[in-house]
Formats: sequence, structure tokens, C-alpha cells
Amino acid sequence: CFKLLNGPVDDCACELKSVAEFNNRILYPRLQALLKRNYFRYVRVNLKAQCPFWEANWLCAMRHCHVDGCQNDEVPPGMRDVKSMSDDAANCPSSQSAGDQVPAGSDSNLGELDETLSPTSQAAFVKWSDHDDSLLQFCEWDDDIGNSSQYVDLLRNPERYTGYRGEAAHKIWRSIYEENCFNDPASALLPGGAQMRTVAQSQCLEIRVYHRLISGLHTSINTHLSHKYLLLGPQDRLMGTQNWGPNVTEFLVRFHPEFEPQGPVRLKNLHFTFLAELRALAKAAPVLRRAKFFTGSESDDAEVAQLVSDILDQVEQFPDHFDESQLFRERDKIRLKSEIREKFFNITRIMDCVGCDKCRLWGKVQTAGLGTALKVLFSPNLPQYLRRHEIVTLFNALGRLSESIYSLEEFKGLLSSNGWAA
Ligand code: FAD
Repeated sequence: CFKLLNGPVDDCACELKSVAEFNNRILYPRLQALLKRNYFRYVRVNLKAQCPFWEANWLCAMRHCHVDGCQNDEVPPGMRDVKSMSDDAANCPSSQSAGDQVPAGSDSNLGELDETLSPTSQAAFVKWSDHDDSLLQFCEWDDDIGNSSQYVDLLRNPERYTGYRGEAAHKIWRSIYEENCFNDPASALLPGGAQMRTVAQSQCLEIRVYHRLISGLHTSINTHLSHKYLLLGPQDRLMGTQNWGPNVTEFLVRFHPEFEPQGPVRLKNLHFTFLAELRALAKAAPVLRRAKFFTGSESDDAEVAQLVSDILDQVEQFPDHFDESQLFRERDKIRLKSEIREKFFNITRIMDCVGCDKCRLWGKVQTAGLGTALKVLFSPNLPQYLRRHEIVTLFNALGRLSESIYSLEEFKGLLSSNGWAA
């Protein structure tokens, strides 16, 4: 299984081994330190929104699905009771950009429009759409104080095994893959993964990249739950204690080719998603260096800016970045870009259908972070500034992928000590 982790990542000039080396030695420890800081650990999130697509009546009864919300006085004063708009203003050197005021999703018919236009109007449309930020919103973050959103401490609610599984969880993944990926016979990435090879060989680069990003996120979630599994020994049962740690069987069943032929491909996709988010960070570096990381404590905010700057220095030096300039090169791909954005936007909304609060929380954070990365990667021009939730979710999403890759080292050791080829 891990022999395959020595090959190329595919779709970028990078070896799996060099990604793991960079991550484990350089990025992972720095991100861990950063994500403990107040600016990054507290997020305002709405976990009570209704599922917009179907009646989601499955509620997780497992106590590990529960999210422990924050008391108001826990949250740093500079973030407490700040409306998201003024909160963003703390990050924003100038006033809000016009593009941010265009409601996301407002371009839903533009894809059809361009085919019916005259060549001159098409050219105008192409030019205009190059400058329309609303085409580049991949996510909606519903954190207004007026709704049911609340502050959550991510450190107190770590992503780990919750027991959320079966039909409810499958329905979410099915809906993501079957309805919100490109599901024609040549391009489908069915949950069984049987058509992955077809995707790799025949599909256009953009759709393949999109599938791989989603699959990599899925791999990361399943790696975490295998790595932080509830291991209840006789002692724990007796004393009512909890013990969280790696579950080798869970990992084997999901990723070893003897049990899951697509396992190694899915592990590659994890590295691929990591590389895409890493590149987004490098590209957004000038914007992130200007951000204020406002929490109300001058010394804390300056330290966070220093930690971020150090991470950006390291990320900029990474030699084999994912090359987004290979995507959407042809002018006729503009419609595809818009379709991909809409489909991804839907995926972020599907998170409101996840019936386990803990999974919903981390699902929202990670899809929002990936959405920010896509916005940065696919924008013809860098945005003037990123909103607080975009910065927080981007770093936290990368932190999740980074921890997944880091945990593979431990699984590698555990597998070989259990007699499995690694
Ligand atoms: P699933 O992971 O449910 O996958 C469904 C099908 O998709 C599989 O049969 C397989 O064919 C295919 N598939 C699997 N992995 C990939 C991949 N990487 N790429 C492409 N196809 C794939 N559980 C927790 O314990 N803790 C969590 O924090 C958590 N968070 C979640 C967040 C979200 C948004 C969702 C939807 C689920 C979450 N879950 C979580 C549940 C978890 O992801 C699994 O759904 C659950 O463990 C059941 O796993 P499974 O083996 O049945 O296959």
C-alpha cells in the first residue's frame, strides 16, 4: 500500500514522498502551533440551518456527535459579539469590495447565456466575467449574529470518530458524487470508485482535478476517524474513561488494496488536495501578509501575523507547486468553470444535511476552506482581501489535510509491526 506512496501524485510535477517530507518536517508543526491561536480556533458557525435539499430527519444519538458551543466570555473580546461584516472590516485595509456585495449564486444562468450570444457579445461576456467576483464565490458562510450561529472552539471539538455511518452518511456522499460531480458515463466517480480509471484517462483535466479534490477531502475525513478512533478497553468500560487512538483495522479496510482496490488512489488524492490548498496559500500570500488577525489583543495579533508570515515563507519555497495555470486555458472552458463553481457551492450547502453536528462542523469548515482555495486559484486577479472566515477555514482545512498526511507515518509503522507490507 505504502509503496504506492512513493510514486508521482499525478496531475502535478510532484512526488508523494516529497510532499510528505515537506509536510511532516516543515509545515505540520508550524500549522499545529498556529491553529492553537485564538484567531484560528474560534469560528462562528450555524449548525442549526435546515437541509435545503431533502428532509433530513436523521439525528445522531451518539454523544460523540455533540458539539460543545462557547460561552460568550470564552471568546476573545475583540471577536465577541462582532457582526461578521465589521469583523471582516478588521481584516480589510480599505472598504468592502463591490464584488463581495454581489449575492453568490446570482450567475446561475450565465452558462447557458454565452452560447446564445453573438460573437461580439460573447467576447464582452468573457471579458466581463473575468472581472466578476460573484463567479468566484465557491461557498456561502452563514455566520450572521441574527441567525442561530454560535461560536465554537475547534480545539475543544476535534474531528475524530463519531459513529456517524450507514445510510445517512452514504446519502451525503452519494449526493456529493452523483449529483454534484460530473456524472456522465465517461466521467462518473461512483462511490465504488470502479470508474476512477476512466476518469483518469479520458476526462478533461478540470473535471478530473475537481473529482480528485473532493475524493481527497473524503480520504482526509476517513483518515482522521481511523486515526482518532474510540478505543474502549476493559479498563475504560469499567472506569467510564475514553481513549482515542489509531485503529489499524479501520484504516486497512478503507485504504489497503487487499480490501479496497481504490484505497491507494484515494490516498494519492489526499496528497493532491493538500497540494492544491498549499498552492492557494502561496498564491494568496500577499493578501495574507496584509491581514490583521484581529482578536483585540495587540500582542497576540502580532504573534499570529509572525507565525503566518513564517508559514508563508516556507510554503513559497516549496519547489513543486500545483500549477493552476494549466486549468481553464481555452476560452470555451469558461462555462465549465461556472458549472464547477455551482456544483461546489452545492456541496457546501449539503453540509447542512449532515446529521452529526461534529461531522457537520468539520464538513463546513473543510468545504469552506477548499472553497476559499478554489476562489484564490481560479480568480484571474487576487482578491483585495480575504474575509475572516475565509482565512480561518483555509488554514484549518489545510491543517486537517496536513494532519492526515502526518498520521500516515504512524499507520505505516503500525501496519508493518502488525505484519502488513508497508
Ligand atoms: P463512506 O466513507 O461513507 O463512503 C461511501 C462510499 O464512497 C464508499 O462505499 C466508497 O465506495 C466511496 N469512497 C470512500 N472513500 C472515498 C474517497 N476518498 N474517494 C472516492 N470515493 C470514496 N465520521 C466520523 O466518525 N467522524 C467524522 O468527523 C465524520 N465526518 C464526516 C463528514 C461528512 C461531511 C460526511 C458526509 C461524513 C462524515 N463521517 C464522519 C462519516 C464517514 O465519512 C463515513 O461516511 C462513515 O465512516 C462510513 O464509512 P463507509 O466505509 O461506509 O464509507
